[in-house]
Amino acid sequence: MFVVGLTGGIGSGKSTVAAEFQRQGIDVVDADLVARDVVAPNSQALQQIQYYFGDSVILTDGSLDRAALRAAVFNNEQQRRWLNQLLHPLISQEMQVQLKAASSPYVLWVVPLLVENKLYQQADRVLVIDLPVEQQKLRAASRDRQSIAQIEQVLASQASRQQRLAVADDVIDNSRPLSEVKSDVSTLHQRYLKLSQH
Ligand code: ATP
Repeated sequence: MFVVGLTGGIGSGKSTVAAEFQRQGIDVVDADLVARDVVAPNSQALQQIQYYFGDSVILTDGSLDRAALRAAVFNNEQQRRWLNQLLHPLISQEMQVQLKAASSPYVLWVVPLLVENKLYQQADRVLVIDLPVEQQKLRAASRDRQSIAQIEQVLASQASRQQRLAVADDVIDNSRPLSEVKSDVSTLHQRYLKLSQH
């Protein structure tokens, strides 16, 4: 399976671009969705998390209280490590299953932390969605109603534009109007169809 890894910083437009590829009939595997699935209510991983951290990280509907879990591992390196050791293998296994199960000519693998977690080697091609930081802040803020300070914190924890561009095979400049971005996607789609045939 020919895998195109798509990445970009917070608010850069990953979901928007991924939806365009999906409209072209391309299967999308989203690392964030997989990460959510592995801790779905009643999953084994969620039970282990509940056993380790206690009931305070479980919401009344039985789902994971992400904010509580984040708070619990904040400044607790040992607990953070335990959590990562539980979740990383599960997430990576499930992503492999979904990538293999894709039935389109190639598959789009959306990974926000592709660069940070050095996962780009696992993609045949890396597509970076690029946007100046100031625009990232504005778009993320208008979408989520997160404060600029919260967004800046996320930005500081993520790779820089330069680090992402350094591993890119293709780049979409998402500071342009959506109509132009859509036409970029069509061009890239044709390129990936050709590449995936070899
Ligand atoms: P995150 O990593 O924070 O989940 P993302 O990279 O998936 O974000 P999107 O949700 O696709 O980013 O886009 C962020 C916001 O910017 C959305 O409100 C989206 O509608 C808007 N947006 C995306 N592309 C463009 C564009 N080319 N022009 C104007 N607005 C855009």
